[in-house]
Amino acid sequence: MIDKLDGAKLKEVLSRHGFGFSKSLGQNFLSQERILNMIANDADINGEDTVLEIGPGAGTLTRVMAKRAKKVISIEIDRTLLPVLEETLDGFGVTVINNDFLKLDINKLYEEQLCPGFKLVANLPYYITTPIIMRVLESGLPFKSLTILVQREVAERMAATPGTPEYGSLTCAVQYYCTTKLQTKLPPACFFPPPKVESRVITLTRREAPPVQVKNEKLFFDLFHAAFNNRRKTYVNNLKSVFSLDRQACVDLMQKAGLDPEIRGERLSLENFARICNLMETENK
Ligand code: SAM
Repeated sequence: MIDKLDGAKLKEVLSRHGFGFSKSLGQNFLSQERILNMIANDADINGEDTVLEIGPGAGTLTRVMAKRAKKVISIEIDRTLLPVLEETLDGFGVTVINNDFLKLDINKLYEEQLCPGFKLVANLPYYITTPIIMRVLESGLPFKSLTILVQREVAERMAATPGTPEYGSLTCAVQYYCTTKLQTKLPPACFFPPPKVESRVITLTRREAPPVQVKNEKLFFDLFHAAFNNRRKTYVNNLKSVFSLDRQACVDLMQKAGLDPEIRGERLSLENFARICNLMETENK
């Protein structure tokens, strides 16, 4: 069992196993105990928790979480990290599954390994941040929270408010399912190898019920995606081209929803999109 896995020890273990970092798998590892503890604090991990980790890498964050949680399950795509994890996680009681998180059967994983209120924690590979988040949010699984380390701009987009440059489809999708809390910021120097961008932890806490009632969820999602189709156009113009509608019908719809037909989509809130959605749905019946 490795007692202290600091940067020097980690490099020694990785090199002994002949490990080579893969850029395409977003492998930027963390080793400083202080930072790992900050992430575990942000995730609010305690002795009752079942934690799902995506991408344990060399297991540094995994170890810190395993010391605090009841159970940790980690999904790692890179087979060459398995012998490393076997060594670094020896004695920690962590279950490591070698799989691609985007391909595994997430419901089966839940039934076999997780429980209601599980917490997901991950230092995510930046190139697949959004698909991973959306996969979990759309799964309908009863997770408590997602605490994820992502590119700083992406974290800020998830937590954005209408009318700001960061506000977009990702904001709307995430905030439909979760409340957001921006947490620890990390500069590139905290990782090895250092990424080109700054990072930030964000916690997404699952809402018990959506913040707005919509009659057709797919239409609701299409309506906010349309808003950001071309940010410089008014919402009416985006609506017209994305849904192939008559311009006057779009203007009427906006007026019925109590909204200015000249408004740009980036200024519309979830509540506004829900109102438009429910009007369209009622009128099409
Ligand atoms: N958690 C470690 C840390 O903080 O040092 C490693 C984080 S590193 C940014 C991302 C990890 O995710 C890598 O170990 C990478 O191999 C793994 N990974 C990349 N794509 C994955 C996928 N689709 N499913 C599971 N793991 C993946």
